[in-house]
Amino acid sequence: MAHILLVEDEKNVASFIRQGLEEEGHMLEWVENGLKGLEMAVEGSFDLILLDVRLPFMDGFEVARRIRLHHPDVPILMLTALTAVENRVKGLRSGADDYLAKPFAFEELSARIEALLRRSSRNHAQLEVGGGDLKIRPVQKRAAWQNQEIDLTVKEFDLLAYLVARSDQTLSREDILRDVWGERFDRGSNVIDVYVSYLRQKLVGVGCPLQIESIRGVGYRFSSNH
Ligand code: CA
Repeated sequence: MAHILLVEDEKNVASFIRQGLEEEGHMLEWVENGLKGLEMAVEGSFDLILLDVRLPFMDGFEVARRIRLHHPDVPILMLTALTAVENRVKGLRSGADDYLAKPFAFEELSARIEALLRRSSRNHAQLEVGGGDLKIRPVQKRAAWQNQEIDLTVKEFDLLAYLVARSDQTLSREDILRDVWGERFDRGSNVIDVYVSYLRQKLVGVGCPLQIESIRGVGYRFSSNH
């Protein structure tokens, strides 16, 4: 179930969409003009926004552009009777993720909403440890401690994500080398130790008390307890 904002001035279109989406179990809020839509979108927390283009007070392109200043990630699906290529391009450039030309079949609207929600939840997928204080976002390759970004290179990120995903397990150097650096990496290399020491410094740098423990003669273990 998603919390969806519908910005649409045509009542019959709005009630057609509302009926279908509510039957699918979504929660819909509907507003009839661009200004109100912008206000709701900025203040609320919606999983997705359905945005008509031709709207009273402010058109959908401008609404999308302004929503993006506040919510860079919320999926926006534009509904438009303007099918000219330039309008579709304008819609996408103004920050919409997808568009649907009117008139449309409800099934197509529903399928596009599902696809956008799926993509959005994948983008927000994250690993959390330490009571949620350490967050790892695999798609973006970003990590943060208590909402403070940890500045990592791609390889450092890969190693941290690998260790955190296997928190409290003892991992052999061979496994880490194979899974993070690949089969062909020289087994005698000390690259793991070098990267672990970089990571330790960076974790300490942001005040993260979680530790990568050295397990003598075996490898490493990321401890999820403070
Ligand atoms: Ca309209």
